[in-house]
Amino acid sequence: MKNSRGSLVRPHPLPGSASRPVVTPLSPSVVYASDTPDALDDQYEGRVFGYTYSREGHPNGDVVAARLDEMEGASGGIVTGSGMSAVSAVLLGLLKQGDHVLGGNQLYGRSLRMMAEDLPRLGIDTSLADPCDVDAMRAAIRPETKMILVEVVSNPTLRVADIAGIAALAKESGALLVIDNTFTTPRAFRPFDHGADIVIHSVTKLLAGHSDVMLGYAVARDPALNDRLRVFGVTAGLTASPFDCWLAERGMLSFDLRFDRSQETAARLADHLAGLDGVKRVLYPMRADHPDHARAVQLLGDQGCNMVSFELTGGRASANAFTKAADGLSFAPTLGDVGTTLSHPASSSHRALTPDRRAALGISEGFFRVSVGLEDPDALLQIMTDAVAAARAAEG
Ligand SMILES: *Cc1c(COP(=O)(O)O)cnc(C)c1O
Repeated sequence: MKNSRGSLVRPHPLPGSASRPVVTPLSPSVVYASDTPDALDDQYEGRVFGYTYSREGHPNGDVVAARLDEMEGASGGIVTGSGMSAVSAVLLGLLKQGDHVLGGNQLYGRSLRMMAEDLPRLGIDTSLADPCDVDAMRAAIRPETKMILVEVVSNPTLRVADIAGIAALAKESGALLVIDNTFTTPRAFRPFDHGADIVIHSVTKLLAGHSDVMLGYAVARDPALNDRLRVFGVTAGLTASPFDCWLAERGMLSFDLRFDRSQETAARLADHLAGLDGVKRVLYPMRADHPDHARAVQLLGDQGCNMVSFELTGGRASANAFTKAADGLSFAPTLGDVGTTLSHPASSSHRALTPDRRAALGISEGFFRVSVGLEDPDALLQIMTDAVAAARAAEG
């Protein structure tokens, strides 16, 4: 290759600018070049900060991590390629053979699968108990219980865990309390203010909010645990891509507004559905008829959540009529999108359970979970009214 700058492959220096970009620049570079081996020593030995290889960290990841840290009142959190990789970092990065983990019995499906299949394969025992019943949780504690993993609001029946009781239990048994805060978000609930040791998020859902990026986050209160999470994440390759981080940051800029708007609409929708002929029951933690209402008010204040579940009086035929008539709403197994989405657990998240197991959880063929988005509230209520009427008409 000719020794003239124009013919070099890399690097072309960036044009200088006295002004700076308003938007975080996207930095897809996998590698970072240093001036000398001495300069690299300075970096590796912590005398100066610098990036080396993007699996170990990159600017877009650090920008998102800092924003999430601030929202959770924490520091030193890690951003990972999906919510499940954050769950993996915590379970696989901190536990060892012979340890025992106690989980809530209505955790996210893949978290349940990791508890049931993968941890036992590695010699880590697991058990599940109802997080609304602290006595049941206490009965499942063993001398080797190192971790308790719970979600605040369960999917899809929106039960609210007894976080105060579980936090006390974690403390007295010396186990780390890990809270998956995906449904509640730091807008409604800050786990570190309620005794959590570690917080996990699927940033894919409400935080990023646009169903165009998968991302996860985990952070511990103890900096030593954050170091272990970071090292395991780098070793296991759980790193998120810079572009996904960039997209997530863009989504998070409007998170507070989106959350407030969708949860206000959710509260209205819950009351509206409860008054419709064709709806058997509505589950929304901020409604007085919810089984955990008092606890929801205590834990979530007036924020509630953007999820509403309800049961049609009819069965599968009504459910089919409902999704068909719910014009403009996506029937899709996700949550937290800017658009309202409908989920039917019997045919999706809970299809592997026997009908009897589903019935025990209160999940019938007429059961739906709604993740409320940003539609005009009146228009959304009208669509729901029409769709419930179509479901009613389809009853056999
Ligand atoms: C979606 C979800 C996860 C997993 O997140 P992904 O980004 O899909 O990997 C974990 N926990 C909860 C509560 C979730 O809703």
